[in-house]
Amino acid sequence: MKSFLLLLLCVCSLFAGHAQPSAAAAAADVDFDTWFLPRSLRIDFALSGNARGQQAAIRTLRDEPVWAGPRRHLIDPFGYGGYYVQVYDKTGTRLLYSRGFNTLFEEWLTTAQARSETQSWDNSISVPYPRDTVIVQLSARSRADMQFHPLLRQMVAPSSIFIDRTPLQPHPVTVLQENGPADRCVDLVFLAEGYTAAQQEQFVSDARRFMEALFSTPPFDQCRSLWNVRAVGTISREEGTSSCGQGIYRHTALGAGYYTFGVDRYLTTPRYNLIRDAVWNVPCDAIFILINADTYGGGGMYNHYACGTAHNDRTPVVFTHEFGHSFAGLADEYFTSAVAYEDFYNLAFEPWEPNITTLVHFASKWADLLPPSTPVPTPLAPDAPQAIGVYEGGGYLAHGIYRPMDHCMMRDYAPFCPACSRAILRMVHYYADQPL
Ligand SMILES: [Zn+2]
Repeated sequence: MKSFLLLLLCVCSLFAGHAQPSAAAAAADVDFDTWFLPRSLRIDFALSGNARGQQAAIRTLRDEPVWAGPRRHLIDPFGYGGYYVQVYDKTGTRLLYSRGFNTLFEEWLTTAQARSETQSWDNSISVPYPRDTVIVQLSARSRADMQFHPLLRQMVAPSSIFIDRTPLQPHPVTVLQENGPADRCVDLVFLAEGYTAAQQEQFVSDARRFMEALFSTPPFDQCRSLWNVRAVGTISREEGTSSCGQGIYRHTALGAGYYTFGVDRYLTTPRYNLIRDAVWNVPCDAIFILINADTYGGGGMYNHYACGTAHNDRTPVVFTHEFGHSFAGLADEYFTSAVAYEDFYNLAFEPWEPNITTLVHFASKWADLLPPSTPVPTPLAPDAPQAIGVYEGGGYLAHGIYRPMDHCMMRDYAPFCPACSRAILRMVHYYADQPL
């Protein structure tokens, strides 16, 4: 009975504590080689639910041959994302690794469809491969209090026969730029979608063009030497992409299509397991899916993936905008376009994204970048030059959310504002194992 009580206390303390990134960030540094091997434990899981609630269930654990992520910043310093993965030692008391991420499913939960339907979506997150038994915990951020709450907790023994070690299909990899070892660089992977076997040269040429567009855009131009870039040639049976709203269905490698949540320009794929299968043996910190189509469209979710069409005139800037979401956790700063989301932000709390604020806790955002004389909020002066401030409108809302500059890549494809630029550079330093 006593040991049961002790166990219960341990379990309760696990659920009560450590779920918040602020607590995690305060934890002592974790030595990578003491706790982990330079491989990945890939955790494939289902998220299912509706507007009233969600659940997580593990589908497959996989042992994969590469760990490209940081070795120095194992405890997440950002606290971004709608979901959180945490790895504890087997006693459940020491946090060894944590990281936030977004999913397409959480966006779906905010659509009208989720009020009348229940769905289950594939997701995946990779953590460094543990040397010893660990406890893995998945949490979701609640919109009610904007805090992370555990969905699932599971003990994982690294030698378990139930961890899948099957090699998957390797795809041709073209190195577009290599600057150093994977754990000291940001490893960006372009994935081909809707390119047939005969179009692979075109894909590599498109990937190169987008890489150059990225590195000609501040602040990415300041840190090019910290990036490795590869193009992974996934082959599609048919070219192009699906557009269900127009009755167009294509058999492609990653299952992408327009009309995500019914929005014509919202081009994504819900098949995240296919994406992870495609990069199983490739160093990969960030994914951009290049879609062989010419109609405007794209999407991006933090620490998940970004995608866009290869042959639209606006694509190089769309690419950079979507990459701002997926790479640096940046929010949309626009507030006039139609989106499918309803009540996306809870205005009673500070949103987690670094480039918008509800002014609930503005000191945690870009307050330190403002000149002392800047009024908060900042009125818009139509003829004044662009200046950093706190301008009303952002995050799909004209009132109650504020953005750092009138124009920014995350609003209307203008240059990144100072708050966004700083967030991008911090993320680059995180992956490159440099001081933040
Ligand atoms: Zn911005």
